[in-house]
Amino acid sequence: MNLDDLPIRDDLRGKSPYGAPQIDVPVRLNTNENPYPPSPELVADLAEAIRAGAGDLNRYPDRDATELRAGLAAYLGHGLTTEQVWAANGSNEVLQQILQAFGGHGRTAMGFEPSYSMHPIITSGTNTEWVKASREEDFSLDPGKAVAAIEEHRPDIVFLASPNNPTGTAQPIETIEAVLSAATGMVVVDEAYAEFARAGTPSALTLLPAHPRLIVTRTMSKAFAMAGTRLGYLAAHPAVVEALLLVRLPYHLSTLTQTAARVALRHRDELLGTVDALRRERDGTVAWLRSKGLSVADSDANFVLFGRFPDRRTVWEGLLAAGVLIREVGPPEWLRVSIGTGEEMAAFRAALEGVLQ
Ligand code: PMP
Repeated sequence: MNLDDLPIRDDLRGKSPYGAPQIDVPVRLNTNENPYPPSPELVADLAEAIRAGAGDLNRYPDRDATELRAGLAAYLGHGLTTEQVWAANGSNEVLQQILQAFGGHGRTAMGFEPSYSMHPIITSGTNTEWVKASREEDFSLDPGKAVAAIEEHRPDIVFLASPNNPTGTAQPIETIEAVLSAATGMVVVDEAYAEFARAGTPSALTLLPAHPRLIVTRTMSKAFAMAGTRLGYLAAHPAVVEALLLVRLPYHLSTLTQTAARVALRHRDELLGTVDALRRERDGTVAWLRSKGLSVADSDANFVLFGRFPDRRTVWEGLLAAGVLIREVGPPEWLRVSIGTGEEMAAFRAALEGVLQ
């Protein structure tokens, strides 16, 4: 029997699952992880916290993750409170819960492509219709065109990734405000990479007090260097959090996850201490790629989109043969490299020079 023989939903037939390759190579620069592992002190603190709580594992976790949400609210600042913050297993699950509550059959979600591939996947997975709007040649958004697209389609949910994946493009706050004033539904600003933004790129969190239908999503997977923990979160009006309680599974965040995330928050100076080095490495990578005559998108994230290669597959394979895994994603002719350690980026540069010769 194969997949097609199953009575699967018609709208899922022929679809492909999300699938960044997980290949064991020396230099992994393909899923925008933070390359720096936790310190031995953090690992010891985490092990102790897990040990201390393990005696209660016969009990369900705190269903509302109250202590963790209080910690996340304090981290975000902007006067946010526990009631305005929600958390789930990665920001992907946060996004899915948003779609479950505000999307669904007969409803639409809009995004500006190229953007994060999971936005349309989670949209169709929740039986919501995906409406594609576009970006400019340099991957920026023209606020006038964005407003026109929203007024034409009147989506129930608008996604705006800022900084955007896979392009690295951050939106000026004025563009987000224009989208918010045109949208009649929910506006989700996906800030998975916010901590990497260059100076002068304010977070959409500043807009929350004036915009009750704005949701800002964040994650511990990137700057926080905790991708394995699977912890994503959002900030929004307390009524939005109440809406998500209607669709979340009971006890969705395990005791172990809540513990690990709380330990990560305690160690945030260490974890976020790598952000400056990654930013410098990113800016150096952009400059180096440009010095090789390549096209490179400006980046406010921990990755860089570069091209243009009429046959990008050959370049990707050449790098892989040299032990460097990057991502074949985004518009045709472009490739994305996540920012690694200095050594990893030196290996990337050497491998790319070899391929381009
Ligand atoms: N949003 C964006 C823009 C992303 O790039 C990613 C991860 N690639 C996510 C959300 C989801 O991350 P996570 O589920 O690990 O929080």
